[in-house]
Amino acid sequence: MSTKKREVIWGGQIMGADIRARNAREAARKAIRDADRAEAHAWSVRMEGYGGPAQPSPTIGQCISGGLGWLEVECVRCKTRVSLPLEAIRRPRDTPIWKLEASLKCRSCRKGRHAPPVRMIKLTEKQEITPYKWVHPDEER
Ligand SMILES: [Zn+2]
Repeated sequence: MSTKKREVIWGGQIMGADIRARNAREAARKAIRDADRAEAHAWSVRMEGYGGPAQPSPTIGQCISGGLGWLEVECVRCKTRVSLPLEAIRRPRDTPIWKLEASLKCRSCRKGRHAPPVRMIKLTEKQEITPYKWVHPDEER
């Protein structure tokens, strides 16, 4: 069989199969993002509506992948709220976000090593609160 003839016979099928493989791969990636978003959103609604429980929770990576990259928290003492970009938190992406709560601290209420607890409110797509200087989890190690 000549090369030319082989191309005629198989070329179209190979191209079609490649395209289907790419499309399926892309659909799978989108399905994962959708699942991440759904999970992050479900957690966020539970936190905002019922105040918890915070566990189990999605991971930092899942929230970012799902497009809910901002975590809103409130200082239990002064009630100041802040939106934190999850991208900026230097923790492994597979860290569940409930684990961040213990290490977040309100700068104005902090006294030395002691700080009042922080409550997680919800996840958002964008920053919804004016920036406010908080102590990030990675600052105190
Ligand atoms: Zn405070």
